Amino acid sequence: MSAAAMTPDQARAAAERVMAHCDELAALSETPDALTRVYLSPEHQRANALTGDWMREAGMTVWQDSVGNICGRYEGTTPDAPALLLGSHLDTVRDAGRYDGMLGVLTAIETVRHLHQQNRRLPLAVEVVGFGDEEGTRFGITLLGSRGLAGTWPGEWLEKEDEQGTRVVDALRDFGLDPHRLSDAARPLGEIAAYLELHIEQGPCLEQADLALGVVTAINGARRLNCTFTGQAGHAGTVPMGQRRDALAGAAEWMTEIERTTRAAGQDRVATVGALQCKPGAVNVIPGQARLSLDIRGPEEEPLEALLEDLLARAHAIAERRGLTFDADEFYRIAATACDTSLQQHLANAVTDVQGSAPHLPSGAGHDAIALADHWPVAMLFVRCKGGISHHPAESVTTEDVAQAIRAYTQAATDVATHSPRSP
Ligand SMILES: [Zn+2]
Repeated sequence: MSAAAMTPDQARAAAERVMAHCDELAALSETPDALTRVYLSPEHQRANALTGDWMREAGMTVWQDSVGNICGRYEGTTPDAPALLLGSHLDTVRDAGRYDGMLGVLTAIETVRHLHQQNRRLPLAVEVVGFGDEEGTRFGITLLGSRGLAGTWPGEWLEKEDEQGTRVVDALRDFGLDPHRLSDAARPLGEIAAYLELHIEQGPCLEQADLALGVVTAINGARRLNCTFTGQAGHAGTVPMGQRRDALAGAAEWMTEIERTTRAAGQDRVATVGALQCKPGAVNVIPGQARLSLDIRGPEEEPLEALLEDLLARAHAIAERRGLTFDADEFYRIAATACDTSLQQHLANAVTDVQGSAPHLPSGAGHDAIALADHWPVAMLFVRCKGGISHHPAESVTTEDVAQAIRAYTQAATDVATHSPRSP
């Protein structure tokens, strides 16, 4: 442990501050009894102000960028050094928990506070960002904050509307931002060296492993499809079993194949049929049509694509054997985001120092790191959350786990900002 590393007592004090700050942010909500804080709302404004105050206290210079992200910078030893960017998001889903996003922002502030208290500057600058929108709760489009910083906002986003019919362009003005200056938020490639994000796991794997921390290998890619089996509706009493073209029975057979095949395929791939409708949908009629959704995800593109092809081939085979037709319409696709191997190693070293071992796991949920990975190397540290629950008021982390997380994250960030291959 280097002289400037964080002691367990310092980490404990920092974790208690983070938990208290999570509670303070949780009070900034559209409704008093259910935490909801959406992009460009008055609550977003207040969360930025409060977070900006904490950044300043921690030794940073602070600004709000042109898409509404709150940003802080702690200078490095080299003038105009590129920054190691730390952070996560400050917006929430409706009726949210208080750690998804916020924990990553507040932990990052503690990392800088520690450096500042030690009077320590690193070769790279360290910046912290609280993104204004990751969840996409208000406008139905996600990652507005991180895509603003990456400079990848599609032009048509300005015209997107919320449920009240307020367009993004008007919401930006109401917030005090200039929609003509959005590109000011975009950071030149050379200004940022890498992005490290801490986030709750939102799944049960760390809890099952009885460990507080894990290193993320990749953020899963995903495909979503609407699928249809079509057969022949008929009388449930008169059509013999051997002469039926039952669309729902075909869909049911495929669903069990999806589960069995995906489970056997391994490699952290998952597949879900989340919606199913059949027509005509009467107790005494053989189903003539079954529509079902398919959602598949995985941390690597090629195995994910191979699984999708396999599942669709199985659907066609089932349809042919049963005298049905099968159609699939892909309506959503996002590529898997690999975490940088060198950054993963920095995180794994720090996590091993703190908890004795460093499990690696993929992220099943999307994160701001996806947008930043378009331009910069990214990596993520996951913190165990109770029952794997997120996007729910029952979301919970322990102060002990947060203390471990702060120690590991601070160590990894310090290592990266000292030894990054991109540092001058
Ligand atoms: Zn999140």
